[in-house]
Amino acid sequence: MSIDSEPAGSGHAGQGNRPLLLIVDDQPSNIQVLFDIFKDDCEVYMALSGEAAFKFLEQRTPDLILLDIVMPNVGGFAVCQRLKESARTAEIPVIFVTSNSDPEEEARGLVAGAVDFIVKPFHATVVKARVNTQLTVKRQADQLRAMAMVDGLTGVANRRRFDAVLEIEWRRAAREGAELAVIMIDVDFFKRYNDRFGHLAGDNCLQQVAGALQQRLDRSSDLLARYGGEEFACVLPATGLDGALICGNALEQRVRALALPHPDSEAAPVVTVSIGVAVGRPSEGGSAAALLASADTQLYCAKQSGRARVCGQQFSAQRPGVDVVDAPAN
Ligand SMILES: [Mg+2]
Repeated sequence: MSIDSEPAGSGHAGQGNRPLLLIVDDQPSNIQVLFDIFKDDCEVYMALSGEAAFKFLEQRTPDLILLDIVMPNVGGFAVCQRLKESARTAEIPVIFVTSNSDPEEEARGLVAGAVDFIVKPFHATVVKARVNTQLTVKRQADQLRAMAMVDGLTGVANRRRFDAVLEIEWRRAAREGAELAVIMIDVDFFKRYNDRFGHLAGDNCLQQVAGALQQRLDRSSDLLARYGGEEFACVLPATGLDGALICGNALEQRVRALALPHPDSEAAPVVTVSIGVAVGRPSEGGSAAALLASADTQLYCAKQSGRARVCGQQFSAQRPGVDVVDAPAN
């Protein structure tokens, strides 16, 4: 997966629970035969050429492609190779359908990245079984890809996903000349919470905190991630310092409003968070890592000044560490 592209979506791309199948063949009669086999189980789309297939792929991401080898202009092998070269389409399984039963042809198809090779004339039941096998493999791979980006305990994004999204958003903001905000969040005196109530209660606390934070981040472009132990982090595209501080304060209040008793906290009788905010304009220089470090410095500042509060800073690549703003916690 290239860093500049969104990862492939999880689960089926088709409507409802039906997998989305794309049939590419220059002969409408061939398409009709396959359509009749799959029309009840799949959402079936057809393309009469490689070019038409790529046009379709700009709009939708099928779960599987049945691909004819011999077509005018762009042949099946070329289509398959191009699919495998793009991060957006590389994960889509391709099955070649051909009337040529030459083993060398089959080998060439597999080398091009196909998962299977079906020779015409074929048996409907066999084709169905082979396609279903590959759809199952695809579904499992999608689940694994999704799991690899999600924090198992809280269900929010994990650090790996956060790092990837921060890089993508940094570059996007650099291109567009927009601002980018990063928020670091740390649960106050969490070790003491664990020590008093046990790790199960600690896990439950983190789940509730994650839920409260997620509720406040209502823009689809905002990302909340569990950054480590009791630390969370957010990326807020197109957000200036004022907006990011308002968001940070709202997040602080959401967690406080959970009213989870924390008798050993020196900050409040309930579970609270300390928050560091940094906002930069990537087109003016710097790096995603430096912006993140700046938010981390602000988090440290919030902790040093009594916790359960928000500290924020306009990050500048030229003058790192200036313009500290102490935002009122309430
Ligand atoms: Mg053909």
